[in-house]
Amino acid sequence: ELDNPGELEFHQAVREVAETIIPFTETNPRYRNANLLQRLVEPERIVIFRVPWVDDKGEIQVNRGYRVQMSSAIGPYKGGLRFHPSVNLGTLKFLAFEQVFKNSLTQLPMGGGKGGSNFDPKGKSDGEVMRFCQSFMTELSRHISHDADVPAGDIGVGAREIGYMFGQYKRLKNEYTGVLTGKGFEWGGSLIRPEATGYGVVYFVDRMLAERHDTMKGKRVVISGSGNVAQYTVEKCIELGAKVLTVSDSSGYIYDANGIDAERLAYILELKNVKRERIKVYAERFGCEYVEGKKPWEVPCDIAFANATQNELDAEDARNLVKNGCFCVAEGANMPTTPEAIEVFKAHDVLFAPGKASNAGGVAVSGLEMSQNSLRLSWTREEVDQRLYKIMENIHTICKRYGHGPDGRLDYVKGANIGGFVRVAEAMLAQGVV
Ligand code: NDP
Repeated sequence: ELDNPGELEFHQAVREVAETIIPFTETNPRYRNANLLQRLVEPERIVIFRVPWVDDKGEIQVNRGYRVQMSSAIGPYKGGLRFHPSVNLGTLKFLAFEQVFKNSLTQLPMGGGKGGSNFDPKGKSDGEVMRFCQSFMTELSRHISHDADVPAGDIGVGAREIGYMFGQYKRLKNEYTGVLTGKGFEWGGSLIRPEATGYGVVYFVDRMLAERHDTMKGKRVVISGSGNVAQYTVEKCIELGAKVLTVSDSSGYIYDANGIDAERLAYILELKNVKRERIKVYAERFGCEYVEGKKPWEVPCDIAFANATQNELDAEDARNLVKNGCFCVAEGANMPTTPEAIEVFKAHDVLFAPGKASNAGGVAVSGLEMSQNSLRLSWTREEVDQRLYKIMENIHTICKRYGHGPDGRLDYVKGANIGGFVRVAEAMLAQGVV
């Protein structure tokens, strides 16, 4: 903490991992003396740069750009770019650190990284977003390549932004390679990549429920967020027969007592991805409840998906969920649950899926996009979806292998941390002190 002052989210992410990894390495002679965790918390490299661009009024704006290259032990750096006014170094270091473990859990050859900018795409014209993305990529292009570092999307970076950045990279380097994932299908993207994180988190919950001989059918579901991850979580929940009661954005949540159906979901996609409006408009359109300034965790449910942002679900929210009957919580977002909230879930035996495991579907399909780019061919929807399901099932199996506590209960946080760590640790031992 002294070496990284003010990086609160990074401290939080490291502490949570250290709580399970330190006891594990201390009892394991292979790992005990290699200072592996001390090495893993120090990024291999960080680049910070100026991003100047010209707005529609002709005025010059300046933002700050970052790329945190955390670990390349098991493959090229891989992880998204976030464009949001709250972005700072501490946020990106926490995300890059978690990414190392998550990517390892997929069993694909991907190291961990993360990047982004404090640029806010909200309220900007397409032209402004394009000029920002071009300026951002002009500098970033010096530090990435298809076999060194392959960024993707995250909050505020979707198909539009990836398109503008890919175009600029291609123009600067005169090469058509898989340097970014999340590309449009027509120009090198993978089918199922937009859906992958949302589908993946539901597949993971499906495996958790199967352990109890239960299914998603008929379950009441609350979801936070209404962006990429939330949208496809809703889609898969509907497909598996669950009833989705809420989605949200940073202004509030909508409560649809009848459940969001496929037609209303199509409206959400149009509203958020094309018109770029607030979720409140959904409530006005369908005459359902809109709760301003609040999070959906007060709504009675069986299963909750935290799909918006870090630390959006605190101890009080957790107590509310438990009181109202929620028995399973899954993180579609990165670190949305505070440590105190996780304690509440543990104390009440709530099934809890940590993001490192449950939201790994997105990066997994990004890994499959890299493979398809290298092979210069495209797999079918069914093929990618089947691979995604298998990867999520396998991550669940890894969590079970490493997650059993002394009381015999399955602790998915422990399972994901140790399961992700072991593969990286073995690679680090084999590669020497680098
Ligand atoms: P999007 O930008 O598509 O959507 C983000 C959603 O979260 C929006 O509804 C947004 O509301 C809401 N949100 C963002 N910041 C806040 C905030 N500070 N408070 C409340 N709500 C907020 O992003 P994604 O869906 O891609 O990402 C969501 C989460 O999932 C992130 O934690 C991301 O790191 C994680 N994730 C994403 C993956 C992917 O493949 N996309 C893969 C793995 C993890 P508003 O519009 O009001 O800002």
